[in-house]
Amino acid sequence: MVKIRKLLVANRGEIAIRIFRACTELGIRTVAIYSKEDAGSYHRYKADEAYLVGEGKKPIDAYLDIEGIIRIAKQNEVDAIHPGYGFLSENIEFARRCQEEGIIFVGPKSEHLDIFGDKVKARLAAQKANIPVVPGREVATEDDIRQFAQEHGFPIIIKAAMGGGGKGMRIVQTENELSENFQRAKSEAKTSFGSDEVYVEKFIINPKHIEVQILADTKGNIIHLYERDCSVQRRHQKVVEIAPSVSLSKKLRDEICDAAVRLMRDAKYINAGTVEFLVSEGRFYFIEVNPRIQVEHTITEMITGVDIVQSQILIAEGHALHGDMMAIPQQEAIQTNGYAIQCRITTEDPLNHFLPDTGKITVYRSSGGFGVRLDAGNAFQGAIISPYYDSLLVKVSTWGFTFEKAAAKMERNLREFRIRGIKTNIAFLINVMKHPKFLNGEYDTSFIDTTPELFQ
Ligand code: ADP
Repeated sequence: MVKIRKLLVANRGEIAIRIFRACTELGIRTVAIYSKEDAGSYHRYKADEAYLVGEGKKPIDAYLDIEGIIRIAKQNEVDAIHPGYGFLSENIEFARRCQEEGIIFVGPKSEHLDIFGDKVKARLAAQKANIPVVPGREVATEDDIRQFAQEHGFPIIIKAAMGGGGKGMRIVQTENELSENFQRAKSEAKTSFGSDEVYVEKFIINPKHIEVQILADTKGNIIHLYERDCSVQRRHQKVVEIAPSVSLSKKLRDEICDAAVRLMRDAKYINAGTVEFLVSEGRFYFIEVNPRIQVEHTITEMITGVDIVQSQILIAEGHALHGDMMAIPQQEAIQTNGYAIQCRITTEDPLNHFLPDTGKITVYRSSGGFGVRLDAGNAFQGAIISPYYDSLLVKVSTWGFTFEKAAAKMERNLREFRIRGIKTNIAFLINVMKHPKFLNGEYDTSFIDTTPELFQ
């Protein structure tokens, strides 16, 4: 067992601040890194110490500057690094460099990043653990896909093996579209992810996206914190998340949670991770694992009372799930209570193809009250929203005894916000919260695309 005294967050925005808060409560000193463009950003001021990183590099590359970050950590006696999500969170080289330098990487081992960073390897691992996967195949050539489509029928989806963030996917409806989409998928995969490896899956019609939160310690103990429903998506990216799901039977929920635990146990996984599934017509299919903290972890924290980020840190220190630390209880102690919803308020304009807006926030008044949690990045009056980073401004999570109460609370909170000087998606999110399909749990991954009234 080790004691982490000083932790550096290799990230920015709301997740950096979220991790600093977890550290401070655990008595750990916090270190921020910031790019030149982020000199005025909130996360810089929320840490005990802050250092400029990636001088002379592009804004995005600053947070990807492995050697620069390691240098700052070494010079300032940092004993652990938390990568957050995005940036270096799934970078095998970074995890390895931390290990070489004797710095604790708060996350899984590099071999887990290796398996789960590659969706083809992840599918194979799931099949080995006897978990149903979407019918699919690794493909090298166009003919492989054509053959797969002949056997399984259209539509199919071509996906980048190293893809993420909803990018690198192409749906193919008919044979005529196949050739062009295959070439495009390959070249997009190469440009975005540095590898043109793709695979093909049957495109499941109108599924729900259900994912299971996992915690695993270094002693081989592993638990789940139940599921989240992340079906409300735009361009395969999550917009609204709900925990627990309103539409799973107890039997299906148990089966999905068991499958997730089984897979992670088989992989000897360590730390926090999420196993993602598609659910359709009473059946579930594995799609991928995210070997890191996720944006939507907040709602699981709200319904279980477990602080997932603190659990990550305690696990990294060597504490056991069955140990004495309340932040990481054993499976029997995990109960869910009520419902939680998270909305991602972004600086995007829903009336203009969700184009990110930039500029200065002239008015910022946030919501509040019982049963609401706000995780904000650069959200304050005078903040400059730059075009360089993602457009997430503040995550709003609400809790209610019932799903309807959580949704009503969310609508009230969204209406209470006043953000001026920059466009946001708040009006769009209010429309989602009010929509009968949403309130009746009748939404699936096609909901946003097939519901034009959400844009009014
Ligand atoms: P990423 O890693 O980019 O998030 P995922 O594999 O997790 O990609 O898929 C993201 C979303 O894309 C899913 O939640 C779902 O909406 C859609 N999707 C992915 N694969 C399929 C499929 N085989 N059939 C239908 N929808 C899919």
